[in-house]
Amino acid sequence: MRKSALPGADATFNGLPYSAAIHFTISSAFLGDRNPRTCAQRLTHIYGLTPSLSMRALVTGGAGFIGSHLVERLLNEGLEVVVVDNFSSGSVDNLSSVVGNPNLKVVRGDVRDRAVLEESIKGVSVVFHFAANPEVRVGDPREHFENNILATFTLLEVMRRRDVKEIVFASSSTVYGDAEKLPTPEDYGPVKPISVYGASKLACEALISSYAHTYGFKGVALRYANVVGPRNRKGVVYDFVRKLLANPRRLIVLGDGTQTKSYIWIEDAIEATIVAWRRSKGGFEAFNVGSEDAIPVKRVAEIVIEEGGLKDMRIEFTGGVMGGRGWVGDVKVMHLDIGKLKALGWKPKYGSEEAVRLAAKHYWSLVAKGLIEPLPQ
Ligand code: NAD
Repeated sequence: MRKSALPGADATFNGLPYSAAIHFTISSAFLGDRNPRTCAQRLTHIYGLTPSLSMRALVTGGAGFIGSHLVERLLNEGLEVVVVDNFSSGSVDNLSSVVGNPNLKVVRGDVRDRAVLEESIKGVSVVFHFAANPEVRVGDPREHFENNILATFTLLEVMRRRDVKEIVFASSSTVYGDAEKLPTPEDYGPVKPISVYGASKLACEALISSYAHTYGFKGVALRYANVVGPRNRKGVVYDFVRKLLANPRRLIVLGDGTQTKSYIWIEDAIEATIVAWRRSKGGFEAFNVGSEDAIPVKRVAEIVIEEGGLKDMRIEFTGGVMGGRGWVGDVKVMHLDIGKLKALGWKPKYGSEEAVRLAAKHYWSLVAKGLIEPLPQ
């Protein structure tokens, strides 16, 4: 941790570095903050001072695809990070670049378990809540209710009791359902999710919004489009590569091929997350995180085939359900208006085609190393 540049930084007061004690006094007086650690951390965060106490973040789902990239970024920014993950879809391998970092603690545990959260949240001033059942297709609705809504409620309650009042939440573009306005802005409504997954994300946002209003939380919800990149072991690009490994002459695509979505490269998504967290005004705010454009799934298939160097290929479409969707609950067209986050200074480096191409290149490089298995037919 960097040393504070403030004079008298090595002195202590009530067990706190002197500079932190000064922050605490100011914060107690003006912000009504009772917790010295979070008070000092908030002030250093707000004013961008060199931290005299490092800020500690809890990342739920930190061993997953997006979560592990976020953990790397937070550690790079000098934060201490506690990961809580039950490894249901995440893995320790995802954290291999940071394992052994003294500022990282990894807890194997379930976010539905209150005791795990009570223990992990000690000294934390901001929570990045990324653990969830990320399956967008039809599954057991109870799983979405318990792993997404109930887990978020349990987390918010632990935060409230422990006076931790900042939460950054991994929401989803699926909250909009079949939006009539495209690109869809954050204030579009009424939002009508068409999948239980989307409904569960919207319910979580509603809970966070109510905690912001009732208990003074700062809540940030990131409505991600399809995030692609290394460590993602699900989603259309990964599935196509595995299908092509099983059959390099014919690719069967769910739906009619016209389902059109926005894809965003993982580094752009992480940058968006940090910008939204640091620059949002407080209270509850939702931000769309996507690229500027959207592309049909047929184009995704073509890019994956091109990057695999495959010739004489046939792409077949199943025709899909309910007007050409891949599955019941699949949003036919998803294109997000990203103007709100751009106004805060963020801009994605890549468009949907480039993001998909980068992801396809990455997977084919793993295939060459024998690290991806064909999808059983
Ligand atoms: P992921 O499956 O790679 O990550 C989820 C992580 O949460 C995994 O490490 C898993 O083991 C962990 N987890 C699940 N349930 C848990 C529980 N009860 N307790 C503790 N840990 C638990 O998925 P991802 O793609 O990295 O998604 C991360 C978050 O972003 C999820 O909330 C997901 O819904 C959301 N999201 C993802 C995308 C995307 O395109 N990948 C898009 C929109 C939203």
